[in-house]
Amino acid sequence: MSVLPKVELRRETRHPRPNHPWIYRSQIERAEATEPGALVRVLAGKRLVGIGYSNPSSMITVRLLTRQEEAVDAAFFTRRIEQAVRYRRRYVRDADAYRLASSEADGLPGLIVDRYGEALVVQFLTLGMERLRETILSALRAVVPVKGIYERSDAPSRKMEGLEPRTGWIERNCGEEIEVREGVVRYGVRFGGGHKTGLYLDQRENRLALPAYVMPGEEALDAFCYEGGFGLHLAAAGCRVTGVDAQPDAIAAAEANRERNQVSSEKLSFVTANVFDYLKSAEREKRQFDLVVLDPPSFVRKKEALEGAISGFKEIALRSMKILKPEGRLAIFSCSYHVDDGTLMNIAQSAALDTRKNLRVLRFLKQSADHPVDPFIPETYYLKGFLFAVS
Ligand code: SAH
Repeated sequence: MSVLPKVELRRETRHPRPNHPWIYRSQIERAEATEPGALVRVLAGKRLVGIGYSNPSSMITVRLLTRQEEAVDAAFFTRRIEQAVRYRRRYVRDADAYRLASSEADGLPGLIVDRYGEALVVQFLTLGMERLRETILSALRAVVPVKGIYERSDAPSRKMEGLEPRTGWIERNCGEEIEVREGVVRYGVRFGGGHKTGLYLDQRENRLALPAYVMPGEEALDAFCYEGGFGLHLAAAGCRVTGVDAQPDAIAAAEANRERNQVSSEKLSFVTANVFDYLKSAEREKRQFDLVVLDPPSFVRKKEALEGAISGFKEIALRSMKILKPEGRLAIFSCSYHVDDGTLMNIAQSAALDTRKNLRVLRFLKQSADHPVDPFIPETYYLKGFLFAVS
């Protein structure tokens, strides 16, 4: 172990954020020469800060894998993956599609593994993880026997690590498409198609939770519906639902999911439209809903874009409140790390003031348990939301 190249921290920055795996370039005094992506030992004076992998061309130069003196080898990754699997066994209920390994939040920075029934979709996001690819894949095969492994390493962040995108089957003894279950709802998933690894798995618990807040016969709007997730659950609970998304592909998949779940188009219909425009026309046509779900994409990927995003966000919150019935409800989400709970609450408050509505929080919402939030790593908490009763 002592043969690993050393990275020494500058005296002033010897105490990085506690339990945080990132070491920035600015914190480093000296680094022994090594291949980009290789394992290194990070030291503060004589003290071991941890062992991780380094990429000198990234601002986040080292991502720590452990704080202890231990071998970072195949057995190490097998243990980490076993831990991640045990966590899901305990905390994922009633679904066979979920995130199995969530990067930093599972002590596996740069690695995402999503399970879709009997197949896995993997993403290697950093050069360090890319170099560990074969070790990780054999550990995965040993711990989680599945019929297929699809690689979807196409996240834009790979560019910052100097990596090209890579997608395709690593192992395939299953179909190109698979059916997964989430509570009473079934989705078709096309490997390599759709956003992220196929579904927005982080919203699973919220999709399962919202039906408790509606009554059969109520009307719901699923704005930014993607492949129909919230709408399918609300329709199953007896609502009449309209789903809106700007992408024709997403709407086509949503229609296919509607049929798969044997829901009539009377109960659940989908519209290809920009939500901003749809909300305006709904207001003009005096359409009214008991529940509006607003689950926009991450408007803010960079902190600098925050202001513009907030005004857009406020606009859709305000327009949604205007088309709610007197005892209506609004579920509003933000999946951007830069929009924190306070900011999202401010957006809702300001929309409520402008529309002269009162708000009561029925439920605080967050990303599902398989996308763990590590309070020592604030970046792991990105999806937040509120379900309001609006009167
Ligand atoms: N609620 C979904 C996930 C939504 S992701 C679920 O539970 O699965 C955000 C979606 O917003 C994407 O499908 C994207 O196509 C869509 N989108 C982005 N900008 C949009 C806009 N201006 N109007 C309508 N849809 C938009």
